[in-house]
Amino acid sequence: MIPKDADCIFCKIVDKAIPCARVFENEHCIAFLDIAPVHPGHALVMPKAHYPTLMDLPAELGGELTRVLSRVGRAVMEATAADGLNLMQNNYEAAGQLVHHVHFHLIPRHSGDGLTLWPQSGYANPDEMSNLAKTIAGLLE
Ligand code: 5GP
Ligand code: ZN
Repeated sequence: MIPKDADCIFCKIVDKAIPCARVFENEHCIAFLDIAPVHPGHALVMPKAHYPTLMDLPAELGGELTRVLSRVGRAVMEATAADGLNLMQNNYEAAGQLVHHVHFHLIPRHSGDGLTLWPQSGYANPDEMSNLAKTIAGLLE
């Protein structure tokens, strides 16, 4: 039995309880078009199993998801005659996650389409960056 959440709209899509514009499906993954696309062809790729965020995803699903992202990404680009492709993935509401079933956005891009991503800034002082890098690296030891 794969993990499921009875209240999850994406689990309902996996179960075909609600319809979607499906573009790909295999044993572990499914891809379908986002109902509110950034640009036409904007696709969502996800595991069929319900895991809330990227950090909950079992490592063994990573390889399969990467292969599906690559295949679907190529097809989305070709179908929309795109010049580029963004991969986006939100975790937790603070980062804009609306549906708590881990998923990856594939967004076709066209040269000069005017879509801007997030603004970038800098660090307050030279030590802040290296100290933060050391803290993160320490948590990864
Ligand atoms: P998130 O903000 O969680 O990363 O993205 C959730 C995405 O799911 C949104 O872009 C939203 O448009 C899409 N979405 C929400 N409900 C449905 C649905 O019922 N069907 C489809 N195809 N997309 C959905
Ligand atoms: Zn789910």
